[in-house]
Amino acid sequence: VKLEGGGIISSLSQSDHHKLTRTLQIEKRLIEALNHNDFHVMYLPQRNVATGKVTSVEALVRWKDEVLGVIHPDELIPIAEETGLINDIGTFMLEKACQQAAIWKQKGLGIKVSYNSSIREFRDKNMVKTVRSVLKKYNCPSDLIQIEFTEKFALEAEAEKKIIQQMQTLHQEGITFALDDFGTGYASLRYLQLLPIGKLKIDKSFVSSIMQQKKLQQLIQGLIHFGQSLDVIVVAEGVETKDQFNLLSEMGCDAVQGYFISEPITAEEVERLIMLNEV
Ligand code: C2E
Ligand code: CA
Ligand code: CA
Ligand code: CA
Repeated sequence: VKLEGGGIISSLSQSDHHKLTRTLQIEKRLIEALNHNDFHVMYLPQRNVATGKVTSVEALVRWKDEVLGVIHPDELIPIAEETGLINDIGTFMLEKACQQAAIWKQKGLGIKVSYNSSIREFRDKNMVKTVRSVLKKYNCPSDLIQIEFTEKFALEAEAEKKIIQQMQTLHQEGITFALDDFGTGYASLRYLQLLPIGKLKIDKSFVSSIMQQKKLQQLIQGLIHFGQSLDVIVVAEGVETKDQFNLLSEMGCDAVQGYFISEPITAEEVERLIMLNEV
């Protein structure tokens, strides 16, 4: 899009124009935020159904800009992906995940930390090197870090040998991977075979209406069995009620996350939650 000289801009509808202006504003502030490490991280606990314990958390990016206020990930991530700034967010999250996992390890809490990745991060041929050096920087064992990727990512990765190679290399070095939003795209038997997947996360859109719909219950049961047959951990996302939790544990789900367990919380709150759990 050409920004000056009219033409393209003037032919946009008013709402498109508004959207474009907002996108450009966010982009500009995002560059500032990256320069000043202006993000922070909240952790979404995952509870193991069998043991009742929280042994892993998902790191989620949070950004409150001085000028624009809170920008939610759902708005931030697509813009960051388009501009390529997602790579910097990815590195920031990797750093935070390793740093926090190492701190918890020192405190005697073995908590696995996962973070969300975008395919662009794996298109960078230095991804493996970056991960190695960040792990080393914080003295973080690789098995405490899990990288999440979506079905959309997986479908694209199928055709990109270099991405698969980088994932396999990291996997060999102890990093585990989780397939996020499972069920929303087109789970392909091909990528399930090609990519190193240790965990399937059933999307919250399925979980949210599980109590009302018998068909959906059968579908989720199918997804759980499918995951078990692949020998991966199955996690249900977006669990908000006790009824949902009970049903999912009866169905054999390995772990759950969602507001019923906890909202995204700070690292200190994670520690408190775990202490509470132990008594
Ligand atoms: P996701 O990976 O599926 O993360 C879970 C989202 O669901 C989080 O939203 C979390 O706050 C929300 N959530 C958790 N439990 C519940 C629940 O019980 N009910 C409901 N309704 N929602 C729940 P959030 O933090 O706004 O993130 C949205 C999405 O943005 C994430 O979805 C993820 O795809 C993406 N995202 C977040 N942080 C990052 C990041 O650092 N990098 C990348 N590439 N993507 C990120
Ligand atoms: Ca995720
Ligand atoms: Ca998800
Ligand atoms: Ca999602």
